[in-house]
Amino acid sequence: MLAYRHAFHAGNHGDVLKHLTLMLVLRHMALKDKGFRFVDTHAGAGGYSLQSTYALKKAEHANGISKLWGRDDLPQFVADYVALVRAFNGKKKAVLEQYPGSPAIAQALLRTQDQLRLFELHPTDHRVLQSYLGHEKGAEIFMTDGFESPKSQLPPSTRRAVVLIDPSYEVERDYARVVGMLREAVLRFSEGTYIVWYPQVGRLAAVELPKKLQNLSPKGWLHARLTVQKPDARGFGMAGSGVFVINPPHTLHAQLAEVLPWLHQELKQFDGGGWLLDQRAA
Ligand code: SAM
Repeated sequence: MLAYRHAFHAGNHGDVLKHLTLMLVLRHMALKDKGFRFVDTHAGAGGYSLQSTYALKKAEHANGISKLWGRDDLPQFVADYVALVRAFNGKKKAVLEQYPGSPAIAQALLRTQDQLRLFELHPTDHRVLQSYLGHEKGAEIFMTDGFESPKSQLPPSTRRAVVLIDPSYEVERDYARVVGMLREAVLRFSEGTYIVWYPQVGRLAAVELPKKLQNLSPKGWLHARLTVQKPDARGFGMAGSGVFVINPPHTLHAQLAEVLPWLHQELKQFDGGGWLLDQRAA
């Protein structure tokens, strides 16, 4: 039974960090002509209305994309990311109504020689995704377990791939499955670029995840985290989120160093938190 729906969270601060990082990685991949495969192991619905009852319930985008929308003082990479969101809304729309999920961000950046491979288990989100992107050349959409996707997707024939691993972490087991999946993925294809998003919550498995991912990175890795919210009195709640990238583009550290301090300043919901950027170069 899948209870999680990303529509409740679309455009929040976690999406901002994740989708900005995804954009920077995919743009770097597109600097070379040779095609690559993008695998989204937990794709969601592809895009979200911010006026749906789901999105309105918590309006998490108010502390994410909505703080960046409509501004003309954004740092370049943030402006580029907001331009993708703007294009998804239709260029002439002054009001933010829709938010692109990772499949839509990828679709906007992939070229005809690239491949889109999307895994989504929720029947409703899978149906929406299928009707939105199923007809696109180079796209294949699966309603199967994304944690098993390395078996069918890696290595790609072009030997170039980016894999986004973005589970809901509703169940504790997801943390161990991320590690298990990546262990298999780097054995199959050690040159791939792997992006893991994780929530900054008070669970031991979440705290330990980056260290575990470092240990199985064959070459270089990068870890970025943005802390914007105060956990509640019992220590619960999502204080922020992180992205861990195995085999990051060599340009990613400098690009994130440029935007993370600014993003923290703009997205923080209390007088505290911060950001972290760490890497082991290949
Ligand atoms: N990557 C999306 C984005 O950035 O727009 C958001 C994905 S959301 C955090 C996680 C999604 O994974 C949910 O839509 C959920 O239904 C789906 N899901 C949960 N378990 C899965 C599994 N084992 N394989 C594939 N999808 C799964």
